[in-house]
Amino acid sequence: MHQHRVIIAGAGLGGLTLAHGLRARGFDVAVYERDPHPDARSQGYRVQLDEPGLAGLERCLPEHLFRLGLATAASPPARVSVRDRHLGTLADRPTAPGPDPAGGTARPYRPYRSYAFNRPTLRQILLSGLADTVRYGAELLSWEREQDGTVTARFADGRSASADLLVGADGVGSVVRRQLLPHARVEDAGLRLIYGRIPLDALDAPDAPDAPDAPDAPDTGVGGAGGAEAAALPPWVFDSIFTVVTGGPGSPHVGFGPVRFARPPGAAGPAHTPPVPLTPVGDYVACLVGAPADHPAMPSFEALRGLDGPALRELAGRLVGDDWHPDVHRLLDRWETDSLFPLRISTASPVPPWEPGPVTLLGDAIHAMSPVLAMGANTAIRDAAELTRTLAGAAASGAPLVDGVRDYELRMREYAFSVVAASRRTGRQRVGQS
Ligand SMILES: Cc1cc2nc3c(=O)[nH]c(=O)nc-3n(C[C@H](O)[C@H](O)[C@H](O)COP(=O)(O)OP(=O)(O)OC[C@H]3O[C@@H](n4cnc5c(N)ncnc54)[C@H](O)[C@@H]3O)c2cc1C
Repeated sequence: MHQHRVIIAGAGLGGLTLAHGLRARGFDVAVYERDPHPDARSQGYRVQLDEPGLAGLERCLPEHLFRLGLATAASPPARVSVRDRHLGTLADRPTAPGPDPAGGTARPYRPYRSYAFNRPTLRQILLSGLADTVRYGAELLSWEREQDGTVTARFADGRSASADLLVGADGVGSVVRRQLLPHARVEDAGLRLIYGRIPLDALDAPDAPDAPDAPDAPDTGVGGAGGAEAAALPPWVFDSIFTVVTGGPGSPHVGFGPVRFARPPGAAGPAHTPPVPLTPVGDYVACLVGAPADHPAMPSFEALRGLDGPALRELAGRLVGDDWHPDVHRLLDRWETDSLFPLRISTASPVPPWEPGPVTLLGDAIHAMSPVLAMGANTAIRDAAELTRTLAGAAASGAPLVDGVRDYELRMREYAFSVVAASRRTGRQRVGQS
């Protein structure tokens, strides 16, 4: 049987999940990543995965890596809370499991709870087993369709590569999308964020005496030695997987997401079978301060990018006024200034159907959305699972690969752009998204 060749541009959460899924089904996969090496830049902090992301990971990853992912993730109470600036409750809802993307096949881990992963840890787990698949320092510049139906990708360092399918998993600024769908619109969502973490304990050590070493150790929800620090923080921070404190429409908001590891990654990775080296990381609370881009205290994004950690914290303190509950200021005082960085949020507009071919897109490359519903990575991973399924189906039945691309794009446009719209609606109601 012909072994189909697939090039994936971008080694983010979506691209790496797809690489696992397709490799496991006999495809010849190469991932080309612009970064010079896996640790070239901060990958951010917490990422919450719910039904779509967890089901996607389970369908694409080797079972042992999926298990390691869950074993190292935190599982705070599966509720999202919205509070006003005096901490009065505006909304408090469970993170309900979403619809079953696979159509109901029973799996060992269902029903899924919501998990808060440390994004760099999840990425290390996803990179495991792909050393011969991911090529770094490979910035895709352009691609072209060949007469024989294949596609050639060209890279900044002069390299080129050919395949039966090119998948643009290259994020919000996607080069693949710009060439495939030049009319697709990605807009500034009118939101700026200052993102960082509040550490709860010292780094864990691989041989930390309090780290349980059985891979299936019970989920205590508490990792490392963070108890004392955590006890010093207001308890409501730990009552929900994510809490938004909002100043009201047009005003700043603050978000808190606790990450207390079930098992400290630095201990769980080496104890896993087979061992997977994972960088030690202590418990923390991910914390962001956001405001509309046109808020009077918010500088231009260029100016924001020029601010160092202390200046970002000072700005956040000004955005969050004196009349906010003292707990919020106490939490911001514990922000690790070195961890702070600014973000500009983008959102995509729906794209009318296009003719399927040997080039397709997944994740933020096609449906960037604001993070208010924490669904961007969930949807990118769901895409990876959907595309794996439809391509494998086409290959198994001897149909052209483009049939699998067509099926995937049909479904993806529907579910993904409805999540983009829901994120925009909630963003407008809650945090002043434009
Ligand atoms: C503050 C914040 C919090 C969030 N929290 C959550 C959450 O809790 N849950 C959730 O589901 N989502 C969350 N999201 C959204 C989520 O981060 C994104 O939707 C997700 O990372 C998209 O994954 P991706 O693989 O499509 O793209 P990316 O993660 O952006 O990966 C793209 C990759 O492509 C590479 N690349 C770019 N251009 C090229 C090129 N030309 N050639 C080669 N490689 C290239 C990049 O270096 C990168 O590695 C959050 C977003 C933000 C901003």
